[in-house]
Amino acid sequence: MTRSFADFVGNDAAVTQMRNAYARGQGTHAYLITGPAQIGKRTLAVAFAAQVVCNGPPPEAPCGACPSCHASGRNGHPDIHLVERRDEKRTILTEQAQEVIHQSSLHPYLATRKVFIVREASILENEAANRLLKTIEEPPPDTVIILTTNDADQVLPTIRSRCREVGLRTVPLATVAKGLIDRGVDGDQADLLARLSGGRPGWAISTSDDPAQLTRRDDHLTLLETVLETRRARRLALADRLEDSRQVARTRERMAAAFEDWVTWWRDALVCHAGCPELITNIDREGALRQASGRLDAPQIIAALTRTREAWAHIDANVNPRLAIEGLLLDLPDLT
Ligand SMILES: [Zn+2]
Repeated sequence: MTRSFADFVGNDAAVTQMRNAYARGQGTHAYLITGPAQIGKRTLAVAFAAQVVCNGPPPEAPCGACPSCHASGRNGHPDIHLVERRDEKRTILTEQAQEVIHQSSLHPYLATRKVFIVREASILENEAANRLLKTIEEPPPDTVIILTTNDADQVLPTIRSRCREVGLRTVPLATVAKGLIDRGVDGDQADLLARLSGGRPGWAISTSDDPAQLTRRDDHLTLLETVLETRRARRLALADRLEDSRQVARTRERMAAAFEDWVTWWRDALVCHAGCPELITNIDREGALRQASGRLDAPQIIAALTRTREAWAHIDANVNPRLAIEGLLLDLPDLT
């Protein structure tokens, strides 16, 4: 995991502001880092936490040499506490907030301060939010709390108003690509990942570390292109490829992921049809996209896009997944 500010990709102004304010002694005790999913909020929180717990003087932190910096570097600093939703839960529980309050009352172990990173402040249980609010209002002097959220409007307003807000935005695709190339990803792959990321470096980096995600997308798009090249009467057998015969929940998950990728493909077909192939997201599919956009007119592409979105919504709304995909396969255009 990225830990230092130097490795952070994009959002330079927000990052520099947060970092410099602390170095100049103008830091505060509560931050709310906002921005879209997988943009790098947690990475920034962890990098900032390493600065706060460094034993060196603030202008030089993180010094990289003190015991605290060594512990942060191993991702095991006893004074940096990560609070996040437990696996099977939908919210951050009151008992987790209670643990923050308890830990914040103790002396730090290695540093002179403790840092609590609360991931996704919008899913705090009501009682958890209220308890945390008290700590944010009257924090122990050696405690820093960093909250993150995808959706600042869903954070309790009384919490939000007491935090210094740091907003992260999507970054230019060229910046994402450069960040990947600096990590050793080759140029074409970096370009593809940057486009797919929609400007979210966190997504691009985690996907480049986990190639299985890209393989799944590849399988989904290959399946769609195969469907379009298959006569309707023979398409239903193709639905099997997304089906898990034992677990309907798994089938649902697979189909939702596939339809999400298919929507991006149809959007690209539309962009291609409009004569802007340089703007397509699935750049590695340019050949098939050009072919489809040459054979179909705009209303046909829009209909396919709309129909795919509809099937995706049906999956989310608990419609039988087999019915959802069969209906969709029969409605998609025939390019044979
Ligand atoms: Zn240090």
